[in-house]
Amino acid sequence: MDYFPLFLDLKRQPCLIVGGGEVALRKATLLKAAGAALSVVSPDLLPQLAQWRDAGELRHHARTFSRDDVAGMRLVIAATDDEQVNAQVHAECEARGVLVNVVDTPEKCRFIVPSIVDRSPLMVAISTGGTAPVLARQLRARIEATLPHGYGVLARLAGRLRDRVKARFTDERARRRFWETALDGSAAEKALAGNEAGALAELEHRLTLADDATLGRGAVYLVGAGPGNPDLLTFRALRLMQQTDVVLYDNLVAPAILALVRRDAERIYVGKKSNNHALPQEEINKLLVKLAQEGKAVLRLKGGDPFIFGRGGEEIEELAANGVDFEVVPGITSASGASCYAGIPLTHRDHAQSVTFVTGHRRGDEIELDWPRLTSPSETVVIYMGVKQAPRICEQLIAHGRAADTPAAIIEKATTAEQCVITGTLATLPALIEQHGIKPPALIIVGSVVTLHDKLAWQQPAVPADSTG
Ligand code: SAH
Repeated sequence: MDYFPLFLDLKRQPCLIVGGGEVALRKATLLKAAGAALSVVSPDLLPQLAQWRDAGELRHHARTFSRDDVAGMRLVIAATDDEQVNAQVHAECEARGVLVNVVDTPEKCRFIVPSIVDRSPLMVAISTGGTAPVLARQLRARIEATLPHGYGVLARLAGRLRDRVKARFTDERARRRFWETALDGSAAEKALAGNEAGALAELEHRLTLADDATLGRGAVYLVGAGPGNPDLLTFRALRLMQQTDVVLYDNLVAPAILALVRRDAERIYVGKKSNNHALPQEEINKLLVKLAQEGKAVLRLKGGDPFIFGRGGEEIEELAANGVDFEVVPGITSASGASCYAGIPLTHRDHAQSVTFVTGHRRGDEIELDWPRLTSPSETVVIYMGVKQAPRICEQLIAHGRAADTPAAIIEKATTAEQCVITGTLATLPALIEQHGIKPPALIIVGSVVTLHDKLAWQQPAVPADSTG
């Protein structure tokens, strides 16, 4: 993090702008809106600034900058076109510990001013850390377009009810849940439609109806996080990720996805590397029940889809047995992700009429697969958790009658920036996996559809670390 984001209360606080031109005017407009006690040092002023001076809305010192001007200031903006004066303002502020910004000169800024979307009291501030102001403005335009003006109304109403809600719910979690539901339904719709009185009445009604027992009840959300690329999350997943008290996650959940979970949520790693469970499955099942019974909203984040080789079923069986509320949210399973991002359709009229998902994971000494079922030339087989056992899997498929020259691919870290796709045949794939050092998570796809990769691959391969020079 290059800059610490914060919002300053500048009401009646002494602030100084050095300069009296266009830029100074823009900054003065903002500082005035924030209620600052504004002074401007400049030999001359634009008419608008002069008008504010005459109306007593700012103090004007009609001269050049002098060192002592910054004394007692909370915040200073240098907006002259004279580099020397700007540098002097900067040095003086730094020496006295006053926050300073020299316009358009990042190296002389102790603070920077973000692009804003103003729905006061709701405020969205965007910064690129001074690297690309145009990008920040573009993003701002997008948010402007999607954030209805009524959000400000909603925020203001919530502010009015805040103390009453606080008194009503002493439990912080129940309080948060009240707001989560209250701000999401018909009250919000009314506020967004500009019906402030109606929205307030609705919120008050909800407050009388809300009961602690329901709001304080825990639940488990078993959520599929997809194959690793955050863009492939569902809206429902993202929403639950924002509302959770505690999240249980494992290796398959990418850090970029975990970063989207509510910042204050407790994070519990229950990792899972093949045969080296950080927490045995039974313990995870029990932990989920325990946390929910404590009244928490528990997010169980799973890679891919929770019901495909994810033991999601086992986890909720335990919840159901204990009467814990739960919800299951599907995710994009890695077979779908890998298929699309590698340009290997899983079915295709000319190649494959069906697809089977199997696991290559070993139980004891055996890979328990129904081999004869996987040998039809018109069938695509996707093998999860098969990297280690690839030689055995390919050998068995051939032994049971699938042609040795059947096209086969392995896709490592599918859908992410590090995705790597290797293609060969059942006969050659194991050696290729070895040669390219492919590691889990990776999927094997077997079948004639793999030949389509050459034509349909659209995702650029990641630049290997060692080729960047
Ligand atoms: N529930 C998950 C699967 C869990 S089993 C799902 O629906 O995808 C774990 C296996 O999934 C890994 O061993 C690997 O075979 C596969 N996998 C998960 N994410 C992957 C990814 N980004 N790229 C390739 N394979 C992946």
